[in-house]
Amino acid sequence: MTDPNATPRRVRAILRRLERRFGPLSPPRASAPLDELILTVLSQHTSDVNADRAFTSLRTAFPTWDQVAAAPQAALADAIRSGGLADTKAPRIQTILREVSEREGGYDLSRLRDMPDAEARAYLTSLPGIGPKTAAVVLSFALGRDAIPVDTHVHRVARRLGLVPTKASAERADRLLHDLVPDGLRTSLHVGLIRLGREICKAPTPRCALCPLKDLCPTAPRYLPERRQRRGPR
Ligand code: SF4
Repeated sequence: MTDPNATPRRVRAILRRLERRFGPLSPPRASAPLDELILTVLSQHTSDVNADRAFTSLRTAFPTWDQVAAAPQAALADAIRSGGLADTKAPRIQTILREVSEREGGYDLSRLRDMPDAEARAYLTSLPGIGPKTAAVVLSFALGRDAIPVDTHVHRVARRLGLVPTKASAERADRLLHDLVPDGLRTSLHVGLIRLGREICKAPTPRCALCPLKDLCPTAPRYLPERRQRRGPR
């Protein structure tokens, strides 16, 4: 069962604390939809730094999406090697590009800008290998929509905060958070929870003593007494 504290009011309180700690929680970039989609594929199972490096290397080696789609797979994999899993990601990228070209008559997803959120989300998740998280990233960062991508950090922190049940899968957490978070706050909450997850609410051990949410978080008591015990008497 979801924590009884998983309420819109609590979400607003969490967001206020995160803004106070980290400053404005704005999206990190505003990309073209197809660029964002391919960048998100490159970011799977690697850091943002490595994904950005792979994206730059890809666009340097193959400046147009036409060239990426037509490239020999081995050459494409070499170009994105710094992003990891290159031999898996290269064919995945080409499959997506071919599908986009077939549907749109070119390598351009600007048409999504005119679609309502639900339609754009459905379009994106109907592309080969694109799940709810990647669709939400494109909605948030390329289309300026109010979406909450549930990546590994958001998934972990939302469960620790009791916003979704401990055992909720990422897909279920995506649906629950979409319904729970008030309109207009989803992208900001995503940015704030990612920042918290990277810097404080880390896996496997959260640094609750440093957390601006510790008095709101049902997980904190599990870690705070242990920290005091470890430090011992002074
Ligand atoms: S109090 Fe601890 S478990 Fe809760 S969100 Fe903060 S760091 Fe994570």
